Amino acid sequence: MEDDENDTLAFERWEAYVIEHYPNPERTGCPSRETLKRFVDSPAQVGLEDLNDTHITRCRECVMDLRELRRLRDTSTPNVITEP
Ligand SMILES: [Zn+2]
Repeated sequence: MEDDENDTLAFERWEAYVIEHYPNPERTGCPSRETLKRFVDSPAQVGLEDLNDTHITRCRECVMDLRELRRLRDTSTPNVITEP
């Protein structure tokens, strides 16, 4: 699926951008780790209000948490995509 690949690329660019531009060491306004985990596992069950609206698009700490949570999730599935 070509679209899928493009989405992944765009997503990675977005992550890199947020990590560079939006540090949030005090974790001001961050949703709970539990909420982030739920967002990774079943995004449809998590509303924008749970995520503090668009907070994660402007928070390096949350992006890094989400990345870690996704990796943890991905390593437990049989079809792991190996990245360089
Ligand atoms: Zn945050």
